[in-house]
Amino acid sequence: MSDLRDRTVTIDDIDAAQRRLAGTIRHTPVDPSPSLTELAGVPVHLKLEHHQRTGSFKFRGASNAVAQLTEAERAAGVVGVSTGNHGRGLARACADAGVRCIIAMSELVPANKVDAIRAEGAEIRIAGRSQDEAQHLVDDLVAQGMTMIPPFDHPQIIAGQGTCGLEMADAMPDMACALVQLSGGGLIAGVSAALKVRVPGVKVIGLSMERGAAMHASLHAGRPVEVTELPTLADSLGGGIGLGNRYTYHMVRDLVDEVVLLTEAEIAAGIRHCYWQERQIVEGSGAVGASALLSGKVVPDGPTMVLLSGGNIDMGLHHRIVSGEDVDLMEAHT
Ligand SMILES: *Cc1c(COP(=O)(O)O)cnc(C)c1O
Repeated sequence: MSDLRDRTVTIDDIDAAQRRLAGTIRHTPVDPSPSLTELAGVPVHLKLEHHQRTGSFKFRGASNAVAQLTEAERAAGVVGVSTGNHGRGLARACADAGVRCIIAMSELVPANKVDAIRAEGAEIRIAGRSQDEAQHLVDDLVAQGMTMIPPFDHPQIIAGQGTCGLEMADAMPDMACALVQLSGGGLIAGVSAALKVRVPGVKVIGLSMERGAAMHASLHAGRPVEVTELPTLADSLGGGIGLGNRYTYHMVRDLVDEVVLLTEAEIAAGIRHCYWQERQIVEGSGAVGASALLSGKVVPDGPTMVLLSGGNIDMGLHHRIVSGEDVDLMEAHT
């Protein structure tokens, strides 16, 4: 039992995170979607979390972790390995808190991603040609006293992401179904831990892409496994869950009711729908809830909350997708 408790983030942790982060994170709006409501035949609301600071919910978890550093840890600074939304969120959380932040990445990362993270106030260290070599640099910095803050498998990160679930519950107390993105599982673990307490009976459906869904494969294998990473429009959902996963694997297994996988065409359709029908600019990973309803892969039987988790998409790529162009996915991935 103590083993199980070690691996779980509770509603108390999430409530504490919400109090801690008041005034730091944005309480993002929830809007009804007339078009998805008509399609699904049940009330469908959108949680507009792509309007969170830094463009995704990752700012919640990062802020919660940075807020709990000790004085000594604050003085020594923070390090992260992420070319994407975690990097942005962590950089901004540290800049706000006056804490030094180094983001390590390989030299293969495109310049626009490097610039986006630098713009949030982090120092960039380019280390070698692969994420593995970047990891070596991180290990060195940690040995020198810096604190590594990981993107999902960490109780403070999970609790921070869970604050998004509290806001969803407040906005739709009669929620029957929540559509939530699933990659490493920090988001859905925290959101589910909040929703399952605040909205008893709610069904939480995890959404990943068909191309390289690591948590889905791990749940089937009965333990964390690696999958081949493939180019996808849902690039924020790529990557593994870690073979030494400590928290999110168990929480997702215990709290998430179902996992649904989306094709690239369905993800593109979700981006298009969000733009033309909802007037929202959403990245592929953020759009998969719309994709799931549009494709008929999820047929909800009551009031439904669709989480739009992020908006950081290359605007040239976005323009091509919403213009109806067939996007070359091998290229889209860069
Ligand atoms: C990171 C991310 C996800 C997935 O979150 P996990 O905690 O890794 O499951 C979903 N959407 C966006 C926009 C993200 O940045």
